[in-house]
Amino acid sequence: MADLKNLFRTVIMDHYRHPANQGLAGYPSCRLKNPSCGDDITIEADVVDGVLKHVREDGHGCSISVASASVLTTLMEGKTVAEAEALIKSFLGMLSGGEAPEELEDAAVFQGVSQFPARIKCAALPWHALARVLGAEGAEDGNDE
Ligand code: ZN
Repeated sequence: MADLKNLFRTVIMDHYRHPANQGLAGYPSCRLKNPSCGDDITIEADVVDGVLKHVREDGHGCSISVASASVLTTLMEGKTVAEAEALIKSFLGMLSGGEAPEELEDAAVFQGVSQFPARIKCAALPWHALARVLGAEGAEDGNDE
């Protein structure tokens, strides 16, 4: 258990200090905010022939939301839209207490967040944003409290 906690902290702090794919490039994007924490994250995806060629992020927030956005962009690059949607579903299911499938790679460490209900929105925010870019979440509003 201690190892898992250390891994959780290490992965999150690494991505928080050195976020991957940071800075927007003008691809289709979605910006979502989590007012209860102050998170403000934008996710961009460049989808070419059904494949996520580039996934970028920008914004600011707590370590959980920033690290989650960074992990998301690295995991999603090169995935098909269908794979990406399945990964988003797995990740959100994991935050709700579900299993952490191997395909989530580094993102699986966010399973620990499921024990902190106040932080689940922080971790989920970038994934909801990508889902909206891909058109998977329609009109559902993830900005509310
Ligand atoms: Zn947060």
